[in-house]
Amino acid sequence: MRKKATALKAADLHRLTISLDGLNDEIFKKMNDVNFPVTDVLDGIAAAQEVGFTNIKVNMVVKKGTNDQEIIGMAKHFKGSGVTLRFIEFMDVGSSNGWDMSQVLPSQEVANRINAIFPIESIEANYPGEVAQRWRYVDGSGEIGFISSVTQTFCHECTRARISTDGQMYLCLFANEGFDFKTLLRSDRSDLEIANAIMFTWSGRNDHYSEIRGSNTAGSKSSCKIEMSYIGG
Ligand code: SF4
Repeated sequence: MRKKATALKAADLHRLTISLDGLNDEIFKKMNDVNFPVTDVLDGIAAAQEVGFTNIKVNMVVKKGTNDQEIIGMAKHFKGSGVTLRFIEFMDVGSSNGWDMSQVLPSQEVANRINAIFPIESIEANYPGEVAQRWRYVDGSGEIGFISSVTQTFCHECTRARISTDGQMYLCLFANEGFDFKTLLRSDRSDLEIANAIMFTWSGRNDHYSEIRGSNTAGSKSSCKIEMSYIGG
């Protein structure tokens, strides 16, 4: 990130979202699966702030029994830093993270833990369908967010399509298959025709995985879900 910060800013990028699941290096490496150190992430965030990024979010996936002891340390670290820390309930994205409900720490419990030390209060969403519930520290030292995709589903107001690196458009984070967006873009169709094709695809969707999560079991169609590393969060 340090190497790219200036180039990203120069390219007119306005927002950054960065994953960091704790400040303990051993725990973070266990969570990220690629042995990536905490110091490099923190240095990247510092570099982004140095070059003028002001809209930076840090996403912390909370996995009960694995990194939930990092919650308060993370809150303390980013409180007053200008960075918005967001706590995400551990989800069954992809087919390889070994998810089960016993590993989910509900956002309400995360909020309770933080509130016991740093009092917080809820604030209004920035726009309809915003994924994270917004809270702020009562002392005015910043904002945090909660993404409660397991215990408080929000499929009914979901507006997120995702594009994979190989040009497939996915209508849901938990989709089994995508639509061939690359061929559409590279065709000789006009912008309007492409926009209409996307709208047609989107308006026909019936995705609401998080609402029906409980009825999906290992070995069902849902076990072939796209891995998050292909489509981002
Ligand atoms: S499960 Fe799918 S439809 Fe529901 S909120 Fe997540 S991405 Fe949107």
